[in-house]
Parts: sequence; structure tokens; C-alpha cells
Amino acid sequence: MFQIYNTATRKKEVFSPLQPPNVGMYSCGPTVYDFPHIGNYRAYISSDVLARVLLYQGYALTHVMNITDVDDKTIRNSRARDMSLKSFTSVYEQAFYEDLHSLNIKSITVHPKATDHINEMVALIEVLLEKGVAYRAADGGVYYAIEKNSQYGKLACLDRENLRAGASGRMSLDEYSKDDVRDFALWKAWTPDDGDVSWETSLGKGRPGWHIECSAMSMKYLGQSFDIHAGGIDLVFPHHENEMAQSEMATRKPFVGYWVHNEWLLVDGKKMSKSLGNFFTLRDVLQRGYSSLDFRYFVYSAHYRQQLNFTWDAMEAAREGRERLSMALYRLKLLSTRSSSSPSHKAQKMSALFLVEFEEAVFDDLNISRGLAALHEHLKKIHKEKVRLSPDDYTALLEGIYKADTVLGLQLASAGESVVIPQHVEALREARVKARAAKEWEAADALRKAIEEAGFDVEDASDASYLIPRI
Ligand code: AMP
Ligand code: ZN
Repeated sequence: MFQIYNTATRKKEVFSPLQPPNVGMYSCGPTVYDFPHIGNYRAYISSDVLARVLLYQGYALTHVMNITDVDDKTIRNSRARDMSLKSFTSVYEQAFYEDLHSLNIKSITVHPKATDHINEMVALIEVLLEKGVAYRAADGGVYYAIEKNSQYGKLACLDRENLRAGASGRMSLDEYSKDDVRDFALWKAWTPDDGDVSWETSLGKGRPGWHIECSAMSMKYLGQSFDIHAGGIDLVFPHHENEMAQSEMATRKPFVGYWVHNEWLLVDGKKMSKSLGNFFTLRDVLQRGYSSLDFRYFVYSAHYRQQLNFTWDAMEAAREGRERLSMALYRLKLLSTRSSSSPSHKAQKMSALFLVEFEEAVFDDLNISRGLAALHEHLKKIHKEKVRLSPDDYTALLEGIYKADTVLGLQLASAGESVVIPQHVEALREARVKARAAKEWEAADALRKAIEEAGFDVEDASDASYLIPRI
């Protein structure tokens, strides 16, 4: 039974899709006006984990993540750099795909771009105008009338007082706070600040507001009602509130079944953000010698609905944790075999028990930290059992762990691929094998010590001895 916390009800709920085995999921993607910071990547990793848990359960998932390539910020920054909107945003769009690849964020089926869907946005705004919930203002733009929707404010739990105070005004910016609850822009009429960014449409010359972009793209790819909408906690208001309002007033159908929001990545106790200037990009992390998967592992140190503080010490701890995991897996790989005889009952039971524990953790509102802890425990148990396990047992145990890794996304099957054994250490290993064969136990012990001093453990299996880097 898979449970997920739904922001709309403020409760953990049993997940039940509209049309099983199909699941439709939309994650708000990046605004490509700069390199994303690692706080943004916490959001995308959280979405990816949710998607992977759905795939693990056998659902046929369509996961849409949009690219916001036209909004207030992209226009402002492309003009500041004197570049066309497209050539400006495509730099960051490409960098984003590269980062997704290195973070092993693989669950996304479609990446629709806002500028490719202007017609769909215009059509949706036309419906809202027809239904009388949108109106044209004196500035030439089209706005959404929040007073026409008694449900407005439901998702963000806005208080009615605030709503009444705001109902008289209009908000033309894409981003604003709860103190500014007002009618918001669906279509922005062209102004000189927009430069050459505009579309000639039935609504006049202009461009879409940010919120309508996600409504139009999500419904195009997932239908008028779909299962999951995900994003960072800051998106609850105004972005998701507005998306829900527009979509539900246009279709008169429930827009989304489960709203899923991740908490902040912090730096020194403050939200990591571009505007505070306290951010790091993935490139900064790589430059310090960490890998993208170390960062992914670091993200797993807190539940997605808890705030997580970023420090370089915590990054270092994550790197060590992942290295320990990789070396334990590498050892299992060395000790396993591809022979066709079947594993022992004991190994099968160990593997099954581990997967039960792992599933209990990740099916409980994506408790990935607990799932990872279960994996570390499982590996310790395997280590203790070593004298009683056969190569076939190791193969079976590895299979169970690889299954769990379809959720973790830590590329455990590649563990140890970068291990290099220096020649002099290999020579020591060979000398030790000979000493043991000649029953020269003291010499063999001395050689083991020398190998350990060189930074390696020796693992004796029935048919061979292996070298595993010490951490
Ligand atoms: P943006 O490009 O600003 O629209 O943000 C992209 C995604 O990253 C959104 O889902 C945000 O909610 C999320 N996000 C932004 N800053 C942080 C942060 N410090 N921690 C976690 N998620 C964040
Ligand atoms: Zn969005």
C-alpha cells in the first residue's frame, strides 16, 4: 500500500490513480534564465524518486516536466544580455538536460516548452473569457477574476479576509506573495520592456502569464484531470493555486488528485535562492570534486517534506556514505557468479526481508532515508554471513539490491567500476596466494598487512582472492 502526503488535504493518503495502471504526473520544471541551483535539484530529485516509486509498483507512468522558456525573468535577463529569447534560454535548457543526466533523473517522459504551446494557452484563456471568469483590463492584458471562484484559496488555505482585501486589485507579475492575493495575469499585453518577445494572437499582441503555461501544458499531455502534480513548497501559492483555479474553472472537473511538495534546501538556516545570493550550482559541487550522485545521496539524508541544510561537511559525509555503499556492492559483485544453480533458501529469505523493509519505508510517503538505512543494515548482515554464502547467493542478493536501486537511482550496478588496483598491490596479493598455498601462514599474514597498509582489504573466496579498496 503506497501512501503519499497530499497538500490539498494536508494528510497522508493511500494512492489510487484515476485510470490504473496509468498514472499521469506533472512536475513544474525550471525557468531557464540561469543555471539551476542545487535547491532546484532537490525538487527534481524528489519528483524523480516519486516517479521511480510509481514505476517500481508497475504503473504505466507519464511524467511531464515543463521548461519555462518565457516569463518575466527570461525576458529580463535575455534583454540584459542583448540576446534573443531563444538563444538565451537554450543555453540553460541544454545545461539542465546535462545535469538531469548526471543526477540520474530518468523518469521524465516529455519536456514541453512553453514557447511551443502558445496556441494551447490562448485557447484556454479564450474558454475562461467565454465563461466570464476572465476579463480584459485597461492595460490590454487578460486577468483571472478570483471573486468568480468560491474555491479560490483552497490549496494554499488562504484566509478569506486576505482574499476580500485583494479582490479589488490586479497583479501583473508572475511571482508574488500571499500578501498580494489579487486577480492575476493570464495574458500580458506587450510593453516596450518585452522587446521582441511577443505573439500576435486572438488575444492581441503579448505573451502568456506563467501560471497558464503549466495549466495548458499539463492538460495537453495528461488530460483535464490527472493524478499527481509536484513541485517545491513555494509553488503552492500563487503558482499551483492559480493553476488549479484556472484549470477547474475552464473544465469544471477536478484538476489534480494529489499535490506533492518538497521542502527547502537551506544554507545557514535560510532558503537557498538566487535572490538571497546564497546558492551553489551543481557545477560548484562538481568543481569541489564531488559527483552528481554524491549530491543525490546527500538529498536522501532528509525526508522530502523536511528542510535540509546544505554544508560542505554534510556533502563530505554523503560522499563517504556513498563510497561505503559502492565498496560493499563491489565486494558482492566480486563474490557473485553467473552460474545457473539456485541460491540457498537463506539468501533468498535475506533478500526478500530486505525488500519488504525497503518497500515499507519508501511506500510510506517516500521515506527514502529509512530505505537507505535498511540497505546499509542489509549489507552489514550479508558481511556477517559471509562464510555461509555461496557465489549464487551473492548473485541473488545483488538482484534484490538492484531492484531497490531502481528507486534509489544510485547506479549501484556500476559500483566499483572506477577501482584501479596498483601493480605493486596486485603483486602482494599474488605473493600472498602463493604463501597460503605453501602453508606459510606467517608470511601470508605479513603480506595481508602490507596490502592493508596500501589501502586494500583482501577477500578470500573459495576460488580466488580479491582486493577491495578500504574506506
Ligand atoms: P524555479 O526555477 O525558481 O521556478 O524553481 C524550480 C523548482 O525548484 C521549483 O519546484 C521550486 O519550488 C524549487 N526550489 C527552488 N528553490 C528551492 C530550494 N531552496 N529548496 C528546494 N526546492 C527549491
Ligand atoms: Zn508550473
